[in-house]
Amino acid sequence: MSQILSEQDFLMLERVVTNAIAEPNGDVQRLAGIVVPDVGRIKIDIWSDGLGLNEKSALEAKITRIVQDTFAGTFTIPSFYVNFKRKTQNAPSAPPARKQAFGIQPNRRPIPNVQHIIAVASGKGGVGKSTTSVNLSVALAQLGKRVAILDADIYGPSIPIMLGLTGPMQVSPGAKLIPLSAHGIKAASFGFLTDVREPAIWRGPMISKAFTQLTFDVEWGETDILIIDLPPGTGDIQLAMLEQLPVQAAVVVSTPQSVALHDAHKALTMFRKLDLPIAGVIENMALHTCSACGHSEDIFGSGGGDELAAAYDTPILARIPILKSVREGGDQGRPVVIDPSNQAGVAFKTAAEELIKFLEGRKG
Ligand code: ADP
Repeated sequence: MSQILSEQDFLMLERVVTNAIAEPNGDVQRLAGIVVPDVGRIKIDIWSDGLGLNEKSALEAKITRIVQDTFAGTFTIPSFYVNFKRKTQNAPSAPPARKQAFGIQPNRRPIPNVQHIIAVASGKGGVGKSTTSVNLSVALAQLGKRVAILDADIYGPSIPIMLGLTGPMQVSPGAKLIPLSAHGIKAASFGFLTDVREPAIWRGPMISKAFTQLTFDVEWGETDILIIDLPPGTGDIQLAMLEQLPVQAAVVVSTPQSVALHDAHKALTMFRKLDLPIAGVIENMALHTCSACGHSEDIFGSGGGDELAAAYDTPILARIPILKSVREGGDQGRPVVIDPSNQAGVAFKTAAEELIKFLEGRKG
């Protein structure tokens, strides 16, 4: 899993490492700098002058231990390593490395013609995040918004099927990708790109580049709200998005059950660390009503969404029941929200209304 250092985490890391390796007499500064050579990796540079082999390995073990202890439970340190280097005699003192050291170095710029960007996230897969993204988008369009959806789930794009669309996207005379359209919304997806091969083995920088392409190289046209359907978890795409785009807020989808909630906490913690506001939680698969006997059952537990919302001081935007029609609609490219009598569709519409209120509240 990729990890991020917020500025606060970075400062803490710098402090604990400096303290951990302070010489007893306090007059040798061994920490040369902490750098993030690429997303998800941290390099701790140590001046090695005067240190023997044993001392170096003792120092390395000490740094490893102290870093792990410090962040245990709150922040999983990514692959970090200690690098020993020598000060060259009489060389000008090294420039401080920390300026380039944050895991996130935001270089955010708006997408032309796109007013609001909302990310739909979940801690784990299979909780109905894509289903929610699609229905939420179509509901927003029904409420009069110009909506586009960006399917950023590079490992398993499902938006094409859920909207009944097949690629490829055409290229405009201006060399931009033209999004496809269905149910009143525009859509771009990794699933529409014919040149995407084996993204499962892609590394951070490649993913970041592909994300840029699907974001800035698409001719979105005038768009009020762009919904980004993120892959589950807290990986490279999330990082790329937070680095590159001025996202207004995230909507977090979870089932009410504790395993999903545990993962949702991780996603929420990441967004909080990176100061991304949470518009609210959508509790999916909240209740199932038997179509034969009318008996209701909370198959995936109950109350979890409330717990999550309370913990992050964010509202529940809607609770979506489990219905066969939701799954069938997804498989057939007909989001349930287009059926005004569908119970889940009504709930998605409520979520869309709440989201608009949130965005309007933020405008003021
Ligand atoms: P994710 O994006 O979180 O991986 P999906 O949206 O792909 O999840 O949903 C996983 C499966 O669950 C899909 O087959 C989808 O149709 C189904 N599903 C999602 N939400 C519901 C629901 N409320 N009722 C019934 N089936 C649902």
